[in-house]
Amino acid sequence: MARGGPLDVGGHVEDGQTLAVHFMLWGSLSLRPVGSERPAESLVVLKLDADEELWLTDTLGYARMAVARTTELSTRLKLEELGPEVLDADFTVDHLAGRLSRRRSPLKTVLLNQRVIAGLGNRDADESLWKAGLDPRRLATSLTREELTRLHRAMREVLEEGLSLRGTQRDLFGVKGQARHRRNVFERTGAPCPSCATPIRHERVGGRNTHWCARCQPESGTPSGPTQRLLL
Ligand SMILES: [Zn+2]
Repeated sequence: MARGGPLDVGGHVEDGQTLAVHFMLWGSLSLRPVGSERPAESLVVLKLDADEELWLTDTLGYARMAVARTTELSTRLKLEELGPEVLDADFTVDHLAGRLSRRRSPLKTVLLNQRVIAGLGNRDADESLWKAGLDPRRLATSLTREELTRLHRAMREVLEEGLSLRGTQRDLFGVKGQARHRRNVFERTGAPCPSCATPIRHERVGGRNTHWCARCQPESGTPSGPTQRLLL
């Protein structure tokens, strides 16, 4: 995307074409009346009918937007390379076991690899591993069936809750999602674990900031995650 000023896009998205957006880390879309003051970080401005504009903004400048024939979208965007979606009804514990069984890497790294499983961001991965009571540094191949079942349930719960809270970014109309306020470990370094009050640890795992509770998520594995214990 061009830097140094927003890119205005004319023309039309024709029938049979799809507009695709990748937010990368910090991108967001805003819908505003024509003439509204644009933020400095606007990357693309699409003029819509009904005197409205759609802005793609990203403080880091990594977000991407593309128009492609709908029939070619999967190939153009390499969607076939993505792993199964965590929230797909067809995504079972067996599928998760199969995806992790060939990965001799830390759990955290594997969960963020969209070619293995699609849909988890950094926050989602940390929160899921806390709920499941799993150390993010453990090898993905080391999980027992019971641990896989806990992880499968935890990932779905975290993503469903994120959707119900409208995510962590602002929506089209500028309303801030509330998911960033619902976190047990993510970016809570040194704060007490909600389950056992142990200070939350922070390290980089596979190059990504990672947060966990050393007591609820022991290296050696644990018979149940913090969420389960809270319910006892
Ligand atoms: Zn804890």
